[in-house]
Amino acid sequence: MKVYLDNNATTPVDPRVAEIIQTCLTKYFGNPASAGHAWGWEAEELVNIARENVAELIQRDSKDTIFTSGATESINLALRGIKKKHKRVIYSSIEHKAVLDCIAQLEREGIECVRLGVNREGFLNLTELQESLKSPADLVSIIAANNEIGTIQDLEIIGEICAQSGALLHLDLSQLIGKVKIDYKSLHFDLASISAHKFYGPKGAGALYISPKLKAELTPLIFGGGHEHGIRAGTLNTPGIVGFGKAAEIIRSEIDQILSETESLTSLFDSLMSKAIEDIILNGPSSNRICGNLNYALPGIRADKLISKLAKDIAISSSSACMSHLSEESHVLSAIGLDKELRNSCIRIGIGRFNSEEEIRFAADKIIEAYQSLTQSSN
Ligand code: PLP
Repeated sequence: MKVYLDNNATTPVDPRVAEIIQTCLTKYFGNPASAGHAWGWEAEELVNIARENVAELIQRDSKDTIFTSGATESINLALRGIKKKHKRVIYSSIEHKAVLDCIAQLEREGIECVRLGVNREGFLNLTELQESLKSPADLVSIIAANNEIGTIQDLEIIGEICAQSGALLHLDLSQLIGKVKIDYKSLHFDLASISAHKFYGPKGAGALYISPKLKAELTPLIFGGGHEHGIRAGTLNTPGIVGFGKAAEIIRSEIDQILSETESLTSLFDSLMSKAIEDIILNGPSSNRICGNLNYALPGIRADKLISKLAKDIAISSSSACMSHLSEESHVLSAIGLDKELRNSCIRIGIGRFNSEEEIRFAADKIIEAYQSLTQSSN
């Protein structure tokens, strides 16, 4: 049996999403910008439906949602597209690399960037946030749910603090969507990045929500053709966008069932692991955590050894996919205060809606067995 437990890195495409993508590749292949014939109109209609579905996910107007190639591009557009107007950018120490690398670039361009700390569970220090805001020209960027340790920030309070000071707020929603039920209407934010492949949609499709007052202020990163209100040029990726829209529709209408099934698999896995491994430590919070995410420190072993022992049959990871490709240490685990030895012992598990109970039991057995053989060989 092969078991995929890396659903925070990416998820398999829902078969219903794959089906609609297929129709866009062969039947509805027109260019949505071709205003002069039925092929273009059909493709445009499908893109419009997708835009409604994606905007509906975050309870915002579809007119304010533009399509991109994924959350990385959305984040770049949000942070670098409005840099001229913004004197300072405030961000947390557990942002995704997509944000951190933008911040590094903004700093090279002379923009002041302020990093805020988090506590042991990954929650932002809200007093520090409040104190750091000095002028309405500040832009705050916060990872709504962390991709490594699953922490869901207090988005209501963060939104209120930013609104009160007049600062703009960008939320990286990549890991939040579909992993918790939220009333987005009650949340204040000015910009939000979304990625389709984190909730059973295709890779290479994402969106940026831009509040109406900001649209005129964004400088595009890509010029040429006036697509997406002139903010993001280039022929629309119709199959990706339509698949994204379908994934959004499914996750919204089936969220209760998806969360309850995934949650029960997650608590089964957690109880099997905790029973078998006495020293196990759960990183991140026990509540206010995204569904399906577990991150464990396994004192006494090296996570890379455990992961490579299992790699052919079981997919787990030590941190985010981008970090494992760079073989860099996790800045998230450092930010929550783990020492080097503990950081090197951490594994991330991402359970998704296509996992079964049989898979969970099998994977837990294999991980425990590999852990025991590593602790025995180090004795
Ligand atoms: N932000 C977070 C929190 C993520 O987990 C990811 C994906 O790894 C991204 C941004 C980047 O998303 P994408 O792969 O769509 O560029």
